[in-house]
Amino acid sequence: MSQTITLALSKGRIFDETMPLLRAAGIEVLEDPEKSRKLILPTNQNDVRVVLVRATDVPTYVEHGGADLGVTGKDTLIEHGGLGLYQPLDLNIARCRVSVAVRADFDYASAVRQGSRLRVATKYTTIARDFFAAKGVHVDLIKLYGSMELAPLTGLADAIVDLVSTGNTLKANHLVEVERIMDISSRLVVNQAALKLKQARLRPLIDAFAGAIQP
Ligand code: AMP
Repeated sequence: MSQTITLALSKGRIFDETMPLLRAAGIEVLEDPEKSRKLILPTNQNDVRVVLVRATDVPTYVEHGGADLGVTGKDTLIEHGGLGLYQPLDLNIARCRVSVAVRADFDYASAVRQGSRLRVATKYTTIARDFFAAKGVHVDLIKLYGSMELAPLTGLADAIVDLVSTGNTLKANHLVEVERIMDISSRLVVNQAALKLKQARLRPLIDAFAGAIQP
């Protein structure tokens, strides 16, 4: 009897950059998520399917068994807590960094030196809180869900903590990166119960992914 394996992915960079790893494991996704409205995508393997979920929901799906495994950014994992998730591989995909950015005319160094309270807007409140606490900088965190770049431009915040890849988004909005908090890449996460119960099918998959990771 074959057991179904469900892999949770988010659309975009993570989906695209996971495809070569799936191919290395002999799996081809049969529909393009950018063209189809389906949330469950079949693959060329009868017992493997892909579910499309929001990036921040991937750890939740895998933790609670809605998916057996998933691919998620280190940023998302830190914010989720990662509790109950087996994290066997850093896939080295969807690489970027989490940084602090301010308006080009904001004197960040002085604000930090003088011990002023910084208003920081971010989706990444855990990462931001830990980072500024370690520096001994007092912050008022403002939780946002999107377009963080807008916060310093409208006076909502002095600084943002956001993902930066090329830096083009910051530049287009006259913001400058003043601190790099951490490098980010995506990891494979696996449901712990599934790892035991579906070991025979999951282990070779994990091994194939491991062998296809690009340095
Ligand atoms: P960039 O203009 O290349 O620096 O990209 C920055 C924008 O893309 C920001 O709004 C980020 O939220 C988003 N971004 C960059 N890299 C990633 C990634 N690996 N995963 C998700 N979003 C990203």
